[in-house]
Amino acid sequence: KPRPEWTATEEFLTRTVVHPDPALEQAIRSAADAGMPAIEVAPNAGKLLMLLVQLTGARRILEIGTLAGFSTIWMGRGLPPSGTLVTCEFLPKHAEVAWANIDNAGLGEKVEIRLGPALDTLAALEEEGREPFDFIFIDADKENNSRYLDWAVRLGRRGATVVLDNTIWEGAVLNPDMDPVNAPGIIEALTLLGEHPRLDATVIQTVGSKGWDGFALARIT
Ligand code: SAM
Repeated sequence: KPRPEWTATEEFLTRTVVHPDPALEQAIRSAADAGMPAIEVAPNAGKLLMLLVQLTGARRILEIGTLAGFSTIWMGRGLPPSGTLVTCEFLPKHAEVAWANIDNAGLGEKVEIRLGPALDTLAALEEEGREPFDFIFIDADKENNSRYLDWAVRLGRRGATVVLDNTIWEGAVLNPDMDPVNAPGIIEALTLLGEHPRLDATVIQTVGSKGWDGFALARIT
């Protein structure tokens, strides 16, 4: 769990460097008010997502796991005027809170929330014959991580960016007994990232308000 000095340092960095805007701060408040879990990305990670979207020139984003729309808004902020973002969420209450936050952030025209189990939505997106995505952020049920990676490769264009959150899980990647529900899916996805013929990846460990965790960054080749 987070050490106080990790959280204090993150707060200092958020204040001095990251500068989340009022709509992002409101998204955090609304989630707490609605009794939703505080499992969104940290502000510095959210801003990293925004910068990655901008640096890669992504125009079409796919997100798996919306919660209250915090990461959605960060990534949406990085999109060009014609950019779009599809985000998958299966809890109606989360989608409702997220929609209010996304609209409040001025991103209502760009963002589509797809309600339902993400695996169904991903199959539907393929059926619909959408243009391939440039940027895919995976942050939902960890059991399905490797299935989501497979879908990312199917729905993303060559050269697209894939970010997979929660890759260390307090060290459970080395001790899966710490969390028999989530650790196996995380480990399976890391193995797939290392072996997949169409993914080139690295993994970064992080500490902060979310404890000891990390994310994977991959390119579809
Ligand atoms: N990306 C968000 C952020 O950083 O602000 C946090 C997402 S939270 C970690 C995971 C979300 O995925 C939750 O809102 C949960 O309800 C949703 N979720 C979990 N399993 C899902 C599934 N199979 N299909 C769709 N959504 C799912």
